[in-house]
Amino acid sequence: MGKQPSSLCHCIINAVDLKFDLVIIGGGIVGLATALEAVRTFRDRRIAVLEKENAIARHQTGHNSGVIHSGIYYKPGSLKAKNCVAGAAAMVEFCREHKIPFDICGKVVVATAESELSGLQ
Ligand SMILES: Cc1cc2nc3c(=O)[nH]c(=O)nc-3n(C[C@H](O)[C@H](O)[C@H](O)COP(=O)(O)OP(=O)(O)OC[C@H]3O[C@@H](n4cnc5c(N)ncnc54)[C@H](O)[C@@H]3O)c2cc1C
Repeated sequence: MGKQPSSLCHCIINAVDLKFDLVIIGGGIVGLATALEAVRTFRDRRIAVLEKENAIARHQTGHNSGVIHSGIYYKPGSLKAKNCVAGAAAMVEFCREHKIPFDICGKVVVATAESELSGLQ
């Protein structure tokens, strides 16, 4: 009886083909988005995501504020700003495709000092 869990585990591991072309560690949004893109790009490859919890998105990804950031705080034209703008568009497209509700409610950004006006422009 005492040996049962390990032999059961052994059987399951043997029953699964554990050869993959790409293994991504971590089932948060970064790992899952990477996996999605890899599946789209390398259609004939075997891809796996390893997650240490018993479900995906158990850490930051499942506990964030749910804001689709516009990239407004990043330096205009910077890689971060471009990545954020492209990512926001991709997120909206993904939500539409998978019928996930979202709300583009806008954001009010104000200058609190005269010196911030040029940046705001
Ligand atoms: C309070 C808060 C609010 C936020 N609000 C927003 C927001 O409104 N909008 C926004 O865009 N971003 C927001 N963020 C940031 C955003 O949530 C994170 O940038 C994002 O979720 C990070 O994703 P990740 O996949 O890198 O990390 P995680 O979601 O933490 O995923 C990492 C995964 O890897 C797994 N893992 C770790 N080590 C191993 C291992 N050795 N083997 C297997 N699996 C492993 C973990 O279990 C976890 O599931 C917020 C963050 C916080 C903390």
